[in-house]
Amino acid sequence: MKASEIRNTFLKYFESKGHTIVGSSPVVPGDDPTLLFTNAGMNQFKDVFLGFDKRPYSRATTSQKCIRAGGKHNDLDNVGYTARHHTFFEMLGNFSFGDYFKHDAIQYAWELLTKEFKLPAEKLWVTVYSEDDEAYEIWNKVVGVPAERIVRIGDNKGGRYMSDNFWMMGDTGPCGPCTEIFYDHGPDVAGGPPGSPNEDGDRYIEIWNNVFMQFNRTEDGVMHKLPKPSVDTGMGLERITAVLQHVHSNYEIDLFVKLLAAAKNAVDFASGVKPGEAGCDADSPSLKVIADHIRACSFTVADGVIPGNAGRGFVLRRIARRAIRHGYKLGARAPFFHTLVHPLAVEMGEAYPELKQGANRIFEVLKQEEERFFQTIARGMEILEDALNTGAQQIDGETAFKLHDTYGFPVDLTADVCRERGVTVDQAGFEVAMNRQREQARAAGKFKMAAGLEYSGVATAFHGYEHLVCETSKVVAVYVD
Ligand code: ATP
Ligand code: MG
Ligand code: MG
Ligand code: MG
Repeated sequence: MKASEIRNTFLKYFESKGHTIVGSSPVVPGDDPTLLFTNAGMNQFKDVFLGFDKRPYSRATTSQKCIRAGGKHNDLDNVGYTARHHTFFEMLGNFSFGDYFKHDAIQYAWELLTKEFKLPAEKLWVTVYSEDDEAYEIWNKVVGVPAERIVRIGDNKGGRYMSDNFWMMGDTGPCGPCTEIFYDHGPDVAGGPPGSPNEDGDRYIEIWNNVFMQFNRTEDGVMHKLPKPSVDTGMGLERITAVLQHVHSNYEIDLFVKLLAAAKNAVDFASGVKPGEAGCDADSPSLKVIADHIRACSFTVADGVIPGNAGRGFVLRRIARRAIRHGYKLGARAPFFHTLVHPLAVEMGEAYPELKQGANRIFEVLKQEEERFFQTIARGMEILEDALNTGAQQIDGETAFKLHDTYGFPVDLTADVCRERGVTVDQAGFEVAMNRQREQARAAGKFKMAAGLEYSGVATAFHGYEHLVCETSKVVAVYVD
């Protein structure tokens, strides 16, 4: 089954159970200042769960575009290192707004997985929130999952409700205990069952989370009971596709195989690889990062974000530049990343027409960002290499700041390079340097205002994130907040 067929099977199954198929909302949440990007299917229904909004249906099903590259759910550092994480992914979900609850949700999930998708029951494990005896009983007595494959997960992350089985959208908002379904990819893959010390391997992969929405968490940390207990579920399309296509990694599913091939071609071309030469390693984690990040960047631009120095634009810039740096690592010495927009539109444009319609614009936006970064990446990498070659276990804050400020290396990009060499970045030192620069810039800004001067414009190598810096004289020229 192709990813597109799996998406359809899911939606049709829940439609047959009385759910209304609702379209994905944009990756940029409409009117939710608590959220940088849409991180789950339930986001567009937040006010329905809270009782502030009503819909003509009490059951819905969606395939939602999600981005997890910042805030409470941030998978940026996992991409390329685990078999299951993306920055952009599609979350399949079914929702009950005060309609059905635990019994039906669990039974629907089980029926879809074992009857429609025909997964062998013995490969499925489930977890429940430690105190949720009701969910435990449904799995064990009604569905028949043996006790050996049901794991209770408690508040093991410090503090009440800090559990993998207590789901929160962010620090505030609807939340509740959850039950998760894991698939065992078999003994060839490393990793232990959920709840075990080595659960983070790639063997037992979480495929589906069923959240029993019961509370609204407010800023003061208080859990208020929701007007009606509801259900919110999320299953990663790429993860269930890997299972159904009998591969162990999301990056081996049909959609990614093509994207990875396109990424390799683009990188090799930009590296000057001649026909007949092997080019970069097709299994390199860097190619996975690039294939992942072109999705996140393209969908973000399609929904109206452009690279910038703050907020969403800065997240987009960080993702794009990380991908570009991975291409550079593989040998690319000219822009390549933006050329993946059209191959992506071919793969996903049918399900998401905004990609097809916006392809030329997305291409241009990412091209500009890439050309800009290629002006400084080589020199920045030299500086970073020099620092790494000293053998220090930590890159000092001043160097990280210089890379950020003058060469356009967001600090997480520097950290990403360092991690490959087992080196860390002095984040606190970086913050100190950053704050000093802010203060200087603010003072200069005030001076400029007081004097009524206009900045005449000095050519700079790189336009910093928050200010322009004239590199030769080290004078902060203009402060742009
Ligand atoms: P994990 O523990 O693997 O990081 P999660 O517990 O953070 O996943 P949930 O918040 O429960 O994930 O999201 C619901 C589902 O969405 C997950 O069960 C998984 O199938 C999918 N999912 C979550 N994060 C990602 C990601 N970064 N990339 C791809 N799929 C994801
Ligand atoms: Mg996660
Ligand atoms: Mg999890
Ligand atoms: Mg989960």
